[in-house]
Amino acid sequence: MIRYGQLFLLLWSTTALAAQAPNPNDRFANVTIEAQQLRPGIHMLTGAGGNIGVSSGEDGLLLIDDQFAPLAKRIEAALAEIQPGPVRFVINTHHHGDHTGGNAHFGRDGTVFAHHNVLKHLKADPKVSPEQWPVVTFDDGIEVHFNGQRIRVIHLGAGHTDGDALVWFEEQGVLHMGDLFFKDRFPYVDQTHGGTVRGYTERVREALRWTDDQTLIIPGHGDLANKADLSRFLTMLEDSLRWAESMKGQPKDAWHAAGMPEAYRDWSWSFISETRWIDTLWREMEE
Ligand SMILES: [Zn+2]
Ligand SMILES: [Zn+2]
Repeated sequence: MIRYGQLFLLLWSTTALAAQAPNPNDRFANVTIEAQQLRPGIHMLTGAGGNIGVSSGEDGLLLIDDQFAPLAKRIEAALAEIQPGPVRFVINTHHHGDHTGGNAHFGRDGTVFAHHNVLKHLKADPKVSPEQWPVVTFDDGIEVHFNGQRIRVIHLGAGHTDGDALVWFEEQGVLHMGDLFFKDRFPYVDQTHGGTVRGYTERVREALRWTDDQTLIIPGHGDLANKADLSRFLTMLEDSLRWAESMKGQPKDAWHAAGMPEAYRDWSWSFISETRWIDTLWREMEE
């Protein structure tokens, strides 16, 4: 639960209220990076911001996302416990700062890969330095053959943003969903950067087809998950869209007055409250 609160504070203070934000070092003071082994040669790291995937082995280290810049040294220390040596590749699941903040640090020794639109959005943000930009960009996807693993990086179209990538270790049965999965929480859909709720739902439906009961799923935010968790998330998205269709044409106030179906009230959290989720659905239907 603490992670969600931290995410909220971080996103909040890195945007509108940046000028009033406390010293960045203070905000990250209590964050520790925890590593969890999922399969031989595949780990998940948690700290603050998006969950990190790690491939390790004889070819070296590959990261999927790298959280916030001030955490880079702590991430590096956690990686050293898994395996010594620099990070050779970083794959960004999308452009948000809680997933790409470590690019400048890890990009010194490694090469950062991402969808074309990740580069586009980072370039358009004057607060982001060029060191944070990906170096190799792709459209539909790319495959990395590393540590004896076939790492499939797949862009299915717009969802959370217009530059999302899923990372699928098909043989090992590990799927990193990036922010196309918030476990048991309403998702953030970045409608100002091409995200759509319908697209998001479509992407989740597609990814769910790849999985089976043994698949380990790394959500962008939340604990390690499985197929049943992702399936529950899809049902929430489908029910939300159905509810939004039923409210279509009514003023926004009426949507808020009606509220989400009872079963989903506790999917509300500090960053995406029920009110904010309803606003997202309203915008999807009305704009
Ligand atoms: Zn995120
Ligand atoms: Zn995001």
